[in-house]
Amino acid sequence: MLAIFEAVAITLWLTKDNIFYLFNFSYIGVSIAIGVFLFIKNYKHARRVVQLLVGLYMLVYLGLISQENMQIEGFWYYLFTGVFEAATIHYAVAKIFGPLIFGRGWCGYACWTAMVLDFLPYKTPAQPRKAIGWIRYIVFAASLIFVAALFLAKVGNIERIMFWAFIIGNVLYYAVGIILAFAFKDNRAFCKYICPITVFLKPMSYFALIRIKCDKSKCISCGKCKRVCPMDVDVTDNSRKRENGTECILCMECTKNCPKKAL
Ligand code: SF4
Ligand code: SF4
Ligand code: SF4
Repeated sequence: MLAIFEAVAITLWLTKDNIFYLFNFSYIGVSIAIGVFLFIKNYKHARRVVQLLVGLYMLVYLGLISQENMQIEGFWYYLFTGVFEAATIHYAVAKIFGPLIFGRGWCGYACWTAMVLDFLPYKTPAQPRKAIGWIRYIVFAASLIFVAALFLAKVGNIERIMFWAFIIGNVLYYAVGIILAFAFKDNRAFCKYICPITVFLKPMSYFALIRIKCDKSKCISCGKCKRVCPMDVDVTDNSRKRENGTECILCMECTKNCPKKAL
């Protein structure tokens, strides 16, 4: 993972002639490497360490201090202006092409929304999934329409609007995420039903190179992996069509809890 992120860091630094990219992607790569090291050492909060290192950096430094809208509105904004800069690069690496390699690793190790939601008490869902995942497409379309309308109406100073959209959007995400977590007794309810980023993440992670696989010769079908999974993935099915397969956030709870080390 460090090698992948260093390759991105050096490529962008040299092609964009901007040393920020070297710092940015090296920092993320080193954070992930620290997490992998802690995971190998069986430190139980390894994932949370990475989530805080990367999530806080992106929210506080990139979002609040550098005033870069890294939410989906920011992605549309930079896409429409034709600027291949921070938010578009971030989406390309973390949410569009990166998932072909590391699936929804973003959701398990970097997202600043989930960084807060994962502190809530419902780490494994208490109830079956609800059939309301279609809401994500409405939120996705609304974000696109919002930014397109700003451009069509030729509103001035869209950059400033994007900064405030980032602040208000995050407050709304946290509020809705926390309310849903308590209502459904599920920390990740926001991820399952509302988050518009999953419109990119789900289809791309279907083809992910890095996946959890089950060694059927060791598995005793005890079902523990599914009970501890925050995303309701049927991880004992090795096919890409497994139930909720595109929801896996690589949190490793299933591998840690499998009594037969079959995962
Ligand atoms: S689904 Fe959305 S909110 Fe949840 S972790 Fe992924 S990007 Fe973050
Ligand atoms: S926890 Fe391990 S042994 Fe039990 S069903 Fe899952 S993979 Fe099989
Ligand atoms: S518990 Fe396993 S299957 Fe479920 S999200 Fe985490 S890594 Fe993926």
